[in-house]
Amino acid sequence: MTETAPQSAHPLAPAWLPAPADPDALAPLVWSSGVARDAAGELAVQGVPASVLAERFGTPVLVMDEDDFRARARAFREGFDAAFESLCGGADVYFAGKSMLTLSTARWAAEEGLRVDTASGGELAIALRAGVLPEHIGLHGNNKSAAELATALDAGVGRIIVDSVDELEFLAARAAERGQVAPVMLRVTPGVHAHTHDFIATAHEDQKFGLSLTPSATGRDGNEAGVAPAAVAVRTALQADSIRLLGLHCHIGSQIFEADGFGLAAERVLGFLAEVKDEHGVELPELDLGGGHGIAYTAVDEPRPAAEIADALADDVQKAVERLGLTCPRISIEPGRAISGPAGFTLYSVGVTKTVDVDAPDGGTASRRYVAVDGGMSDNPRPVLYDAEYTAALASRTSDAAPVLSRVVGKHCESGDILVRDVWLPEDVARGDLLAVPATGAYTHSMSSNYNALLRPAVVAVRDGEAREVVRRETLDDLLRREVDPQNPA
Ligand code: PLP
Repeated sequence: MTETAPQSAHPLAPAWLPAPADPDALAPLVWSSGVARDAAGELAVQGVPASVLAERFGTPVLVMDEDDFRARARAFREGFDAAFESLCGGADVYFAGKSMLTLSTARWAAEEGLRVDTASGGELAIALRAGVLPEHIGLHGNNKSAAELATALDAGVGRIIVDSVDELEFLAARAAERGQVAPVMLRVTPGVHAHTHDFIATAHEDQKFGLSLTPSATGRDGNEAGVAPAAVAVRTALQADSIRLLGLHCHIGSQIFEADGFGLAAERVLGFLAEVKDEHGVELPELDLGGGHGIAYTAVDEPRPAAEIADALADDVQKAVERLGLTCPRISIEPGRAISGPAGFTLYSVGVTKTVDVDAPDGGTASRRYVAVDGGMSDNPRPVLYDAEYTAALASRTSDAAPVLSRVVGKHCESGDILVRDVWLPEDVARGDLLAVPATGAYTHSMSSNYNALLRPAVVAVRDGEAREVVRRETLDDLLRREVDPQNPA
């Protein structure tokens, strides 16, 4: 260490972020299993050093540890299959494509025995182009267009997850016109919102997704006063010749660590399945319990292994079906970030560093170090959108310098353009260093933009120690391709 004392009691440091004893150490759950420091101290993934990745592919670059992605996908498939084997013959795992959908990630998921969940015509096109079996694809969305529904019917997707009575009637008519029968899951809102360690159970949900299990007060927009919108949808679906009602779907939130919320949602939806059985004499054969399984973005997050999540859920489902006298429906889930998130990290080059004086909570003055990198909110909008926390590590080398509380920011014309709000980085981090931000495999590439006309980064996959581009870096030609040049409209 240098002579400088670590700022361990920094007034701007959040309580959960003590100064690290060793700022070069890589927290195990936050990084993919293939990431470690090599003999020279560089951060390397499966032995490929950060500097080699940066030189070959440029920065910023999203690096996906393919083996890690596949291992997480397998762990969900095997864990859920084992937990639900005796109860309902196993379970199906749909990879939530919205978290990170490319031709490659869709293939990895399919090759590991997962199905793929899509949320638009574009995602559906990617999954189909990747060679995912149409019957293993689900199509979501609260407002699917006629064209999206037609593509799904043409392709023969395994399930269309319907979000409202309006959409159900629209789909039934489109399918009837084509002489087809649409395979449908109805998305219901069980009145359980889960976030991280808490969940809130309510009767009413004020959100755009799903059909409520609680009787409607208004009777507007296809609702019937005194009847749950989900019950109206079930009745409508069962009566429509062009609809094959497979079952129900629910999704209670994101970044969830505790099992209670999933268990309560399963119990409520199974209770509704029992009501459907009583009223219509039908046991719907499928139940999807959605995604949202939490991952470690920083060292304080403690995600549970897939098998543990599966066992807890199977226990709750078993108790509920026994109590309700139901045959257990075929269970499916839709994890996204828990498969793609920890498998990725983003590698940036450091540019400007500066320290600013800040009013401290105790009335004094504290300094905050800003470390600016060559990307930002266009390649990872989650900190800006959701106040999401990340961490970062000096990737191109280790350092003996004292850790300094730092904020990693991008290069956009936006003061909110923050990538890592608080992290301890060595004081000597400087222009030309490489910085890696872990757990960026989910909702970064898929949410990226061209804000400030920045070019979107390449996506690189590393497998068996070999790195290759799976999405190439955007070029200025890509950027200008959709423009109609007013000086040369032809
Ligand atoms: N399923 C549905 C319906 C979702 O809306 C989402 C995310 O928003 C997911 C699955 C995947 O969530 P996660 O990536 O948190 O697992």
